[in-house]
Amino acid sequence: MQNFQGVGVSPGRIIGSVRQMPKPVSEPPSGERLAADVAPEDAVAGLKAAAQSVHDELKGRADSASGDGKAVLEATALMAKDTMLLKSAAKLINAGSSAERAIWEAGASVSEMLHNLGGYMAERATDVLDVRARIVAELRGVPAPGIPASETPFILVAEDLAPADTATLNPSVVLALVTSGGGPQSHTAIIARSLGLPAVVAAHGVDEIADGTEVYVDGAAGFVAVSPSEEQRAAATAWAETSATLAEFDGNGTTADGHLVPLLANVGGAKDAVAAAALGAQGVGLFRTEFCFLERDTEPSVDEQAAAYKAVFDAFPGKKVVLRTLDAGADKPLPFLTDATEPNPALGVRGYRTDFTTPGVLERQLEAIARAASESDADVWVMAPMISTAAEAGRFASLCAAAGIQTPGVMVEVPSAALTAATVLREVGFASLGTNDLTQYAMAADRQLGPLAELNTPWQPAVLRLVQLTVEGAAQEGSGREGDPKPVGVCGEAAADPALAVVLTGLGVTTLSMTARSLAAVGTVLKTVTLEQAQELARLALSAPSALEARDWVRAKLPVLEELGL
Ligand code: PEP
Ligand code: MG
Repeated sequence: MQNFQGVGVSPGRIIGSVRQMPKPVSEPPSGERLAADVAPEDAVAGLKAAAQSVHDELKGRADSASGDGKAVLEATALMAKDTMLLKSAAKLINAGSSAERAIWEAGASVSEMLHNLGGYMAERATDVLDVRARIVAELRGVPAPGIPASETPFILVAEDLAPADTATLNPSVVLALVTSGGGPQSHTAIIARSLGLPAVVAAHGVDEIADGTEVYVDGAAGFVAVSPSEEQRAAATAWAETSATLAEFDGNGTTADGHLVPLLANVGGAKDAVAAAALGAQGVGLFRTEFCFLERDTEPSVDEQAAAYKAVFDAFPGKKVVLRTLDAGADKPLPFLTDATEPNPALGVRGYRTDFTTPGVLERQLEAIARAASESDADVWVMAPMISTAAEAGRFASLCAAAGIQTPGVMVEVPSAALTAATVLREVGFASLGTNDLTQYAMAADRQLGPLAELNTPWQPAVLRLVQLTVEGAAQEGSGREGDPKPVGVCGEAAADPALAVVLTGLGVTTLSMTARSLAAVGTVLKTVTLEQAQELARLALSAPSALEARDWVRAKLPVLEELGL
């Protein structure tokens, strides 16, 4: 029996058979020639047949998909039959190029041409690159890139997932996610939690598990076992029952003694917002606006933005919706704002900083937000990502005021902002701790890298201390809109970990925002402790010499977690 230990990032105990995500298709060598014994017309015919089968496969998947996934698949299927693409490839083959190299180069020029056309056409540029990779895979006789198409449920094993993979990930057939790379704050972790799928990241060696192998996955313990034991089978059966009871949040975030901690949702658009409202979210604590425009080559118009924002506000009439201005850069590039050639994107021009290099986009976004807010009943708060200084917070507040936005705030996700929280909060009405980035910057550990997963956990005492400093800074800064100390919420993935949610409550954060699927689990565990007990657990975590001990010590005092399989 073979076991793999990784980091558990989304709870759940499940048994299923493995499907490996195919590796990305490598570029055919530059100058690769057609084999001497192949006639160019046969190579062209072979290329056309490969393109046709890529089209048919994508079209077949589109027909049985729905929503965003269907649209993505349909657009890509059409591209596989694009005459310009196939004609330019045929020309290269006739000039002596191999079919693989020809379609690769033709894809590059068509993609560049579409990109230069701008607007809707520019958005098809990435579809061409996807299609050329699929055609090359077909010609080589290797599996197509991307999430495997399957009718039978499976456990997806990959190196890591990108945000764009969500569009084609069908949660009714994917039972769990396991990656060899990725950290606890990686996109795989975020995607898994948002879909409610058990997930383990940074499980070294899982790429070697053969397709079809039956495995047991424990997404809380971070454990994957080949050939599950009887005990593990029983645990999976028990989880199937518990998970049903953990599916519903009663809409009231509170400790056992009635200290209120509203539980809010992280959303990326209207679809998420509607789902979050249905799951009982008490509002939205993080609306990641860049998710509405991922893969866009051009700036969305004010009208288009206002419509996208209003659709989210409308899901929460009378409730708080915290919108974050575009957080482009690093793992979320937006071609109209970010420079793909930066040597060190996580430390580069990202988040609020894109206003330094592309002025005007932020003002137009604030105009769109103000318009959408004025047409809705939601209580709209607006925050800027990646704020590092009080001066930046001050400038953001003035821009909000100029746009008519009443409640400006900042994300605290750069250690400098946590260390100077009192002066930063003097400028704005609230703060929201982005523990994903706060952890990566405090520990100098790229949040996407599997080998750094041990460093990259918000249980690190240094990160907890930064949370404490932020809350203390806010308390010094005096009263916010409702007369209490200025609110400090948490909207990083830390809030979705029920044990850590208790610690954060004890540290004094006022709201917890998470993927809607985690609301019920966090709400259930929070109700088992009093505020005083939460404060005691916060002291215990802060006193631990390591992240591992902080987590273990706190979990040992919360037996409800093990009982529920969380
Ligand atoms: C964070 O950094 O914790 C956060 C919530 O923002 P994102 O994950 O979108 O960077
Ligand atoms: Mg962040």
